[in-house]
Amino acid sequence: EKLGFYRDTWAEIDLDAITSNVSSMKTHLGSHVKLIAVVKANAYGHGDVQVAKAAIETGAEQLAVAFLDEAISLRHAGITVPILVMGASRQTDVKIALEYDLALTVFSLKWLKEAVNQEEAKDKRVSIHLKVDTGMGRLGIREEQEFKDVLQFIRESTFFNLEGVYTHFATADELDTHYFEEQLHKFTLFVKNIDIEKIMIHCANSATGLRFPENVFNAVRFGISMYGLAPSLEIINQLPFQLKEAFSLHSKLVHVKRIPKGAKVSYGATYVADEDQWIGTLPIGYADGWIRRLRESEVLVDGKRVPIIGRICMDQLMIKLPNEKAIGTKVTLIGSQDKEKITVDEVASRLDTINYEVPCIITSRVPRVFL
Ligand code: PLP
Repeated sequence: EKLGFYRDTWAEIDLDAITSNVSSMKTHLGSHVKLIAVVKANAYGHGDVQVAKAAIETGAEQLAVAFLDEAISLRHAGITVPILVMGASRQTDVKIALEYDLALTVFSLKWLKEAVNQEEAKDKRVSIHLKVDTGMGRLGIREEQEFKDVLQFIRESTFFNLEGVYTHFATADELDTHYFEEQLHKFTLFVKNIDIEKIMIHCANSATGLRFPENVFNAVRFGISMYGLAPSLEIINQLPFQLKEAFSLHSKLVHVKRIPKGAKVSYGATYVADEDQWIGTLPIGYADGWIRRLRESEVLVDGKRVPIIGRICMDQLMIKLPNEKAIGTKVTLIGSQDKEKITVDEVASRLDTINYEVPCIITSRVPRVFL
């Protein structure tokens, strides 16, 4: 396959890692649990079509995304499995959902009534999953009475097909399970009269599926750990199987030179060489998502950690080299070289954020290469 890029910076996506994580999760949860591969945000920055295909080939029954646009682009790529849109869609767009055979998330009676007005009942029904807010405080019905009214409305309508009922946990990745249990209890009450043989009942994100396999009802929405990342550092020692990281980020030295003691590097001339030294230039910068905050971080060259020096530019950055290196030497910003490894978690901690955010912020200018 033609790579189609002309710059020496790329992300590698290890689809075997995705396959391994999906397969381990399926085994962990058992065959009565459907696996919904969460591929929103371009599969957390990994490449949605390729990840979706790898997950489906490994037995994922469904996909989930945040927005209709993401689902439509998967359909255009030829993906035919059920896709759940988890975010809010406009009532005026139910016809789009019908056209592309997508399931929408419904979280209020008002929305349902207005959606019906948009489209006369036809031979096709709009697939929906009801979202219950048990404590996340985001999308979802909070009151049991509204939930009952919604179910009644759906039962009497010829326009909707209830496929699922779900909720989302706010703290499933925390050691303290108090709030998680509270949410789980509320959800159990909401779904107690729902026929689990006919309807998908799902509450589990990665953390829930990994830690509480007995509480997932009949489907899991598998996101972060499908990509091989732990849902939080807190529970990193509670993982029931080994996760394999799929994302790595690489570049190559495009210029190598020796600078004398006292020479300055990059904007602001803030870096001053404290000795004669070798430096290298990499064609990656903040416009690629390698943001200026990462100036204190390290990269790998020939299996060794070396520091970034000076300010990170829009398209380039400079590193200090231990000795002269050849132009074209591979430099790893995330991933392994020999025995050294820079994990997504390490980059996240340098950015004072969570691992979810790291591959997401590597912009579309960085080509994804699928292994
Ligand atoms: N379900 C919903 C509603 C989500 O918003 C997300 C992602 O944030 C997921 C499931 C997947 O969660 P995770 O990536 O923690 O597995």
